[in-house]
Amino acid sequence: MYEWCDRTVNPVTGCLRHCPWCISRYNCIKFQSHVDMDTPAFHEDRLAQIQQGSNQIILLTSMSDPADWETDWLSKTLKAAGDTPKHKFVMLSRDFRAFREKMQFFSKPPNLMTGATIVSRDELERVKPYHPEILCFMPILEKMGLGQESRYTIHAKWIIAGADARQGERIIPKLSWIMDVAGMASKLSIPIWQDNTLSPYLGRRNLKQELPSGWFVNGGKK
Ligand code: SF4
Repeated sequence: MYEWCDRTVNPVTGCLRHCPWCISRYNCIKFQSHVDMDTPAFHEDRLAQIQQGSNQIILLTSMSDPADWETDWLSKTLKAAGDTPKHKFVMLSRDFRAFREKMQFFSKPPNLMTGATIVSRDELERVKPYHPEILCFMPILEKMGLGQESRYTIHAKWIIAGADARQGERIIPKLSWIMDVAGMASKLSIPIWQDNTLSPYLGRRNLKQELPSGWFVNGGKK
């Protein structure tokens, strides 16, 4: 579970990306879940879960990539989010361009932020023209060289950063890679949430955990 959101609701399970660091896929294998992570499937009944609680940040894509979603799935999910203004919603994609192309047929609810998950400099260059509201560097796998970025190239309202959290063989981020992302956030005055997976490298007390203006985790208590 990510600390930067209150909970996850997954109207879609299954993803075509096969990221080696995918925690959802890892957990499905570890806990012998019956979820087929190779085949995106829509669970419309889960949209009712969106109504629960109050004033929460809800991640809608922890077990799928919205670039894979069918139009009908996206339409129903966006409507459910838009009809629930008491919550804020996040949708992240590794193929942000394809996701944006699907989104152009809908009006994005004001309580939803969409973002790109980025693990390489090439990926960042590819998504820049599409102006993701969230840049999710999770996991940080290399130094991106972000020192030259400016508000002309980066329009994000929030940055999320984390480390490869797989057990066993995983890529250990260098401190300079982590500081590269943090430095860009600081330089461009973008709030950054450093996930607790960075604790071993920064120390838990040193994590910067900022949210976009007007957003709160833990139902507004934190
Ligand atoms: S895009 Fe997300 S859900 Fe899909 S394989 Fe990668 S990490 Fe897992």
